[in-house]
Amino acid sequence: MHHFAYKDGVLHAENVSLEVISSGVGTPFYCYSHATLTRHYKVFANAFAGARTLICYSVKANSNLAVLRTLAQSGSGMDVVSEGELRRARAAGVAPEKIVFSGVGKTKAEMVFALSEGIYAFNVESQGELAALSAVAAAGGHLARIAIRVNPDIDPKTHKKISTGKGGDKFGVPFSQARELYAQAAALPGIQVRGVHMHIGSQITDLKPFADAFALMRELAGQLREDGQTIEFINFGGGLGVPYRGDEDIPPHPDEYAKIVLGAAQDMNVRLLFEPGRMIAANAGILVARVLYTKAGADKTFVIIDAAMNDLLRPTLYEAWHEIWPLREALKEHPVVTTDVVGPVCETGDYLALERELPPFGAGDLMAVMTAGAYGAVLSSTYNTRPLIPEVMVRDGQYAVIRPRPSYDELLARDRVPDWL
Ligand SMILES: *Cc1c(COP(=O)(O)O)cnc(C)c1O
Repeated sequence: MHHFAYKDGVLHAENVSLEVISSGVGTPFYCYSHATLTRHYKVFANAFAGARTLICYSVKANSNLAVLRTLAQSGSGMDVVSEGELRRARAAGVAPEKIVFSGVGKTKAEMVFALSEGIYAFNVESQGELAALSAVAAAGGHLARIAIRVNPDIDPKTHKKISTGKGGDKFGVPFSQARELYAQAAALPGIQVRGVHMHIGSQITDLKPFADAFALMRELAGQLREDGQTIEFINFGGGLGVPYRGDEDIPPHPDEYAKIVLGAAQDMNVRLLFEPGRMIAANAGILVARVLYTKAGADKTFVIIDAAMNDLLRPTLYEAWHEIWPLREALKEHPVVTTDVVGPVCETGDYLALERELPPFGAGDLMAVMTAGAYGAVLSSTYNTRPLIPEVMVRDGQYAVIRPRPSYDELLARDRVPDWL
């Protein structure tokens, strides 16, 4: 559920008209709903009420400081995948003991910084990383609390570019090697084994892969305790899907997901860690764009808008589907036309929707690309020297720009021309 709805015929974010924001900020822009972000966090947290948990919002889904601050104020911890994200989480006011650090390629410099901050745990993804972390921690007189990310070789039945827990994916350590690597970890200076970790993929809408993976984690945690390891937590990762298309691929409710987790953790006396990203942020954001031109093709209409693949890459990168709503509700009463919604970027792959039955948009009309709050702004670029688009947050009846649109001068000033040219 989200807080974008028509009021008096105009699409609103909570109690602010998106037409008002469009006039104030200019298009295109991202708009996030504070109430939706906090609601999603609460729904997830409430599903585990009474259990010992640490919910670490996955910063890479949407890393704007205002979004992080919103979630931090709700009580969320953070899952980071780089020093930059760790710095963002800290700047947003997240306590280090609520931060976990994932990723296959942490550098030693990043490890030094995370150790000096005193984060809760590292999710270690290889033997090489384990050795590096041990060396860095021991040299600095630190103890690195770790979980090893285990690849359970389970097909999460999602898009191939967002599967992370199959045998051939680059993430984690094969299940069959995990126990041996844990034994090595226990013998290394500067390392404290504290938990087990998995994350099998994203936009998962089927409970079965979760259930299979969680059962394996339970088994592994039990074996590790028999080996004499200290297992204080199981980190179940993220991956819960969201409904991008009203009627298809409906993800399970967090309550159903929680039942599976609580079953797998029963009698284990562990703290439950989670890293949800998409399910917190996706529905809490939209992209608002204006139609520049329309063009009649042979059997469809091209609607050319001022947003493009550099602003929202998901359709091009993941063949993702985003619903498109007109800002004016009245447009929905007209007969639909088969439409490609495309941007100004010089790439055939530059589209936000292909062959959609959409209302007859005309030049100047505004549209909202829905469910764009996760893996939207964070994946944007300045391709074609298009300035990054602004991000706006709405809270009830007020809005604020939480990342302004850079000027062309600022954009060009990032380059340097050597004096020998
Ligand atoms: C990306 C990522 C997540 C978040 O995944 P969602 O599908 O957005 O919930 C969680 N954990 C790790 C390790 C990740 O890389």
